[in-house]
Amino acid sequence: MTSASMTASAEFRAAGTDLSERRRSGVSRGPLIDLAAAPDTIGVTWGADGAATIGALTSIAAIAADPRIAAAYPGIAASASGLATPQVRHLATLGGNLAQRSRCWYFRDPHIACLKKGGSECPARTGNHLYSVAFDLGPCVAPHPSTMAAALLAHDARIVTSQRPGISIGELLGDGSNGTSDHALAADEMIRSVELSAPLPGERALYKRAISRSHAEWPLAEVCARAVVTSGTFQFIRLTAGGIAPVPLRLAACEAGLQGKPAGAAVIAEAARLARSGASPLPMTGYKLDLLEGVVHDLLERLATP
Ligand SMILES: Cc1cc2nc3c(=O)[nH]c(=O)nc-3n(C[C@H](O)[C@H](O)[C@H](O)COP(=O)(O)OP(=O)(O)OC[C@H]3O[C@@H](n4cnc5c(N)ncnc54)[C@H](O)[C@@H]3O)c2cc1C
Repeated sequence: MTSASMTASAEFRAAGTDLSERRRSGVSRGPLIDLAAAPDTIGVTWGADGAATIGALTSIAAIAADPRIAAAYPGIAASASGLATPQVRHLATLGGNLAQRSRCWYFRDPHIACLKKGGSECPARTGNHLYSVAFDLGPCVAPHPSTMAAALLAHDARIVTSQRPGISIGELLGDGSNGTSDHALAADEMIRSVELSAPLPGERALYKRAISRSHAEWPLAEVCARAVVTSGTFQFIRLTAGGIAPVPLRLAACEAGLQGKPAGAAVIAEAARLARSGASPLPMTGYKLDLLEGVVHDLLERLATP
């Protein structure tokens, strides 16, 4: 299906693992357009520089199981294998993961108005926001739901759409100040593929999440970490986090505390504390900062260990 042949009010359906729930509840209504795989929208292709391009209709399970992805982008593979359940991963697509809608229970309730459904305020802000943001960057306090978006932010991914030859993952997600949407796609704009930057020589990458139960749940906080550690020094470090803000965040202060520094216990402990920089937790979400610091600390210790 091409964008030219659809109506503006229609909603794409890839595997439907997110959309079907909203259709059942009545949060999503109107016509659907089922996406069919085309050569550029499914599978993984590799550039001469070792950079991967992943089709938007590639399943999360296929990404998790791809040995070349696991070797070149272990943080992407671990993020893919860590989300949802085996059944969901088997069906769910990369494009659907990036464009999935908020998990906020007020948004998912068809009887409650919220900013993302044309309402004038965010009911979670003054209501039960236990699972909401700890970095309050906009009028809506729901954390961005996409695990793959946080991992792709760590890899400077570019998104190829039916209308644009390539936008950064940051442009796709925005800065969190627009509380009315979860992404910057036009209604008839389809994600076709995701281009990753080539991995760095000697790079290692890890992913970890803090979660309220062992699986089948979105994380309370999650982090993708990339590092090049040579001669006991952080030569390169990139940290991105999900579950804590309306968009996945780069932990810039934390990165600055590590770049060029010795990969020792004191540096790591101080850098992990810096993961909290800029946080503005809601009355019920301060606990997420403890989880975030703990996850970052654990990943850094593991990256520093040869
Ligand atoms: C129990 C459970 C736990 C989960 N845990 C996690 C988790 O920890 N982390 C996480 O990230 N996700 C989690 N998920 C969500 C799951 O990953 C998403 O439902 C799935 O990735 C959506 O992919 P899909 O192909 O089914 O998308 P669909 O349901 O088909 O579509 C989702 C949305 O994206 C749009 N869309 C789909 N494809 C495109 C495209 N190519 N271009 C533009 N728009 C498109 C659709 O219009 C729709 O609005 C969980 C789901 C369940 C049921």
